[in-house]
Formats: sequence, structure tokens, C-alpha cells
Amino acid sequence: MILTVKSKETPSSPKSKGKKKWEPRIVGITCNWCSYAGADLAGTSRIQYPSNIRIIRVNCTGRIDPLFVLRGLELGADGILISGCHIGDCHYVEGNVAAKKRFEFFKKILDEMGLGDRITFEHVSASEGLKWAEVVAEFTNKIEKLGPTPVKDLSNLTDLHVDETESKKHKIHEVLLSIAKRVDYEPKKVMIFEPEEVMEGYGFPKRDPDKCVGCYGCFSVCPENVISLEDVEGKRKYGTLHTECLVCKECEKACPQEAIEIVPGFELLSYMKNEPLWDLEVELQKCSICGKHFSPIPFGEELKKRLAEKKAVKAIDGLSLPFEPYTTCPTCKREKMAQTIAEVAQPALTTGKKS
Ligand code: SF4
Ligand code: SF4
Repeated sequence: MILTVKSKETPSSPKSKGKKKWEPRIVGITCNWCSYAGADLAGTSRIQYPSNIRIIRVNCTGRIDPLFVLRGLELGADGILISGCHIGDCHYVEGNVAAKKRFEFFKKILDEMGLGDRITFEHVSASEGLKWAEVVAEFTNKIEKLGPTPVKDLSNLTDLHVDETESKKHKIHEVLLSIAKRVDYEPKKVMIFEPEEVMEGYGFPKRDPDKCVGCYGCFSVCPENVISLEDVEGKRKYGTLHTECLVCKECEKACPQEAIEIVPGFELLSYMKNEPLWDLEVELQKCSICGKHFSPIPFGEELKKRLAEKKAVKAIDGLSLPFEPYTTCPTCKREKMAQTIAEVAQPALTTGKKS
């Protein structure tokens, strides 16, 4: 039995004359074993608390999909209160620990959008009926002071259906973008989360600028276009799209330099703008013939080093090539070779005709 009372009007409660007084709509998500039982105890003990909360019971807070909370906000909930067992008391050992980590991650993103104060994570045990009533009263009071949710326009909500071809992370991203649009949130600065602040499953490729030679092996194996590259003014820029990484580590395996590592991490600007964060630049070699930039200088140097290790540099140097092998672009190499072959072959062909 859950007993609630209408919340008291506070001086800061938004009112408009002639209109029905605004009341916060709060979604409560509780675990079955502790907080729901605590709420039930508050009811059977006839402890009164504000009736603005609507409780959804789940077996464990670990079952709370981030989409539950984000959809609640997208749908216009004024506040969302999650409550589970105290740390160490979880019926499923560590479900509440995993849930809290996820919560902290999304709260940090929602803080940036001005919605972080509208979600809370509490711990209420089955014997804490009074604490449950106090937690709900306190949160309701806080939401009353904050006023109605700034999330506007409830049309065109995100389709939450996730099929086997789609990743849950993409869906979460879609809902976050939808919420951002509804609160007019525009990310302005790069914001990198510390590894311990990031939810499991979120990571990105980190390149070591001292080891990376710009060979673009990682770029060619990435299945999700996480790694982008762009050649601008004699430099090759490498970018990372923080939305897409599957943490599959294929790029790590492909790197010949051990220069890339998938680390738990997250960057908000790239995520919300859906654009790569340009995080590395490598100088490009200028072609000794046409003058166009073509391949990263460190890549050419590394190639030369490896050939030297295999004692192949001398062999290459011994060839009488019609171009400088390390500083000529592939197009000019082809043209020079074709020209040389034509020059060598022409007299032979001519002689052949005569005989
Ligand atoms: S871990 Fe996989 S998805 Fe992420 S950057 Fe590397 S290859 Fe791409
Ligand atoms: S594969 Fe390694 S060396 Fe090549 S561009 Fe990627 S990080 Fe750099």
C-alpha cells in the first residue's frame, strides 16, 4: 500500500491566474526488493508524502535501461527519481553499482543540457519507509522550485524500437539529440569525460602522436567510420567520431606501430554535433616532381627504416629509377615509368621493324 498526499504549494511554484495550478510530474523507478518495499512500508505505516510521483517497479536498478530515463525526459517528465538498495545490499549483488555508474554518466550529459537536477539516484531499503517519504518530499520540493520541464514540443518522439541491425548506443544517441533539440541545447566546447566517468561500452581510439606515422591502417579497417581523415594545406588531419565506436578494437589490431588504443572515454561536443573531433595532424610529403602533397612524411620515413632493416634500401638505391623513390607521388612514378619504358622500347620497336 502506497499512501501519498497532494504536495503543498511553495512560494516559487509557477502559477497562472485562472489556470489549474501546475503540479510536478515525477516518475519513480524503484527496485522490487528494497525501495519498492520501502515505499510500501511508508504506505502501510500511513506516512504521508507528495502524490506527484508515479512508481514503476523493476526487479533491480541494474535493469534500468538508460532509455527509460531519457524517454521519460523526452516525454516531458518534470523529474525522475531512481531508487534502489544500499550499496552492498543488492539482491543481484552489484546491479545497483552498475546502475549508479550509468546514471552518473547520463547525469553529466544532462547537466550540460540543464536537466541534470531533474534526475536523482537514491538508496532506500525495505525497512526505510520514513526515508522513502522524506526522499520523495525533498525531490518534489526541488522540482517545484525548478518549475516545469524546459523540454518542449512532444511531437515526433524518437522511435525506440531497436532491431538486431542497430546498436542500443545509437538509439540512446538519437534520444539525447532529440532532448537537446527540445531544450535548445547547443554544445560549445570540447568536453572529455574521464575514463571512470564513462559507462561500460563507451570508448574511443586514442592515438599516440609520437608513434603514429599516419599510415591510415586504422582508418581502412574501422567498420563504423569512427576514424576520419582529411588532407588540408600539406597536413593530414585525423579525427574521431565519438558517437560511433563499437569498441571492437579492430583498429588496434591493424596498427603496425602499436600507436592506437581503445580507451574508455567520451567527448560531448563531437557526440552532440555528430562530427569528428580532429585530434592529430601529420605533415605530408611534397612530390619532388608535381609538387602535390601525397603521403605522410613519418610514413615514408618508417617505410625506409623497415626496408633498411631488411637490407632492401641498398637494392632500391641500386635500381636506376627515373624518379626519387621516397619523395615522388604514385601518379608521377607511374608517368615516369611509362615514359621511360616508351623511351627504351621505341628504338627497339623501330629496329625490329627494320629487320
Ligand atoms: S574500436 Fe572498432 S569501431 Fe572503434 S575505432 Fe576501432 S575499429 Fe572503429
Ligand atoms: S594504423 Fe596506427 S600508425 Fe597507422 S594511422 Fe592508425 S594509429 Fe597511426
